[in-house]
Amino acid sequence: MNDSRRIRACRHRLEDGEAVVLSPGPNLTYLTGFETSPSERHFLLFVTPGDEPVVVAPAMYAEQLEGVPAEAELWDDDDDPRDVLEDVCTAVGDPECIYVDDRMWAQFTQDLRSVRPDAAYGLASEVLEDLRIRKDEAELEALSRAGELADRVSMEVRGRGKEVIGLTEAELASEIDRLLTEHGGEEPAFETIVASGPNGARPHHHSGDRVIEAGDPVVLDFGASVEADLEAGTARYPGDQTRTVVFAGDPTAEFRAVHGVVREAQRAAIEAVEPGVTAGEIDRVVRGVIESAGYGDAFVHRTGHGVGLEVHEPPYIVPGNDRELEAGMVFSIEPGIYLEDAFGVRIEDLVVVTEDGAQRLNESPRRWSSQ
Ligand code: ZN
Ligand code: ZN
Repeated sequence: MNDSRRIRACRHRLEDGEAVVLSPGPNLTYLTGFETSPSERHFLLFVTPGDEPVVVAPAMYAEQLEGVPAEAELWDDDDDPRDVLEDVCTAVGDPECIYVDDRMWAQFTQDLRSVRPDAAYGLASEVLEDLRIRKDEAELEALSRAGELADRVSMEVRGRGKEVIGLTEAELASEIDRLLTEHGGEEPAFETIVASGPNGARPHHHSGDRVIEAGDPVVLDFGASVEADLEAGTARYPGDQTRTVVFAGDPTAEFRAVHGVVREAQRAAIEAVEPGVTAGEIDRVVRGVIESAGYGDAFVHRTGHGVGLEVHEPPYIVPGNDRELEAGMVFSIEPGIYLEDAFGVRIEDLVVVTEDGAQRLNESPRRWSSQ
């Protein structure tokens, strides 16, 4: 029997007759430390309450699977992998309820359904979300390293001041990506956003050819993933930080006022974080500050998202989410105000819920002035 703590915790959450079936992706990495890209070849990990996990995988994975805490059922390219699925379902006791990976390709869920048409089906997140949502020490260590890395790059870019004027958004974005890896990041955790002037009014702007001018507010949203040492294997955890900076020149009075509102909304929300408060309440605090400043309609997205093996994962800080915050959760608080044809402001930090409040994982300056 393997002794991986995370697999034990997963098995503990299952009742007799239930199974979790995972495909390559964050859930499988979470339980085993094993990372590979999903492909058309059947690669499925079965976890049941009573037996050792079984991994159905192409034979060419034999060597890579040696460290994986599961019994391997390998198939060759001339086998029909559905026969192997059939055998494994029988071997693990014919589960009546199968929780399939939320990220599993439809091809594989259909094959499972064809070999076990009478089973009930659910999503693996019903079993795993509560485990993944609270981060353990190794995860928190990696997330805070990713936060420090984003801080360092943020300060370095801000420090360039007027040198940035004249660059295109795309040029500044690729310079940020270069700095993220130069300072120890594995890779950008998502597409770096540099949104200058009126482009800032689009929260997910794709950095383009616009030249950054003096007086432009520039929304900078980036982070890199860093490697974490897990009990079994390694995995990558991301940073995610946003600052809105004016590199040179004077922004408008309205921009200064709006920046102050967003900063205050973010401060108030972080102040409100503690165990037992709901995610929806944090969203309400942010919205309250922005609405009372008269910009309610200009805050067009949720307040934040959890961060872990995925850059966006539960808990989602959205209106009405009655999920209570617990120590060890990590999420972003990223209020924004977006004024079409003018500018946008977003300030984002990741926070960890502690026993009595919140701790920020980002500490780089939040002011708009590059100095
Ligand atoms: Zn974010
Ligand atoms: Zn972000």
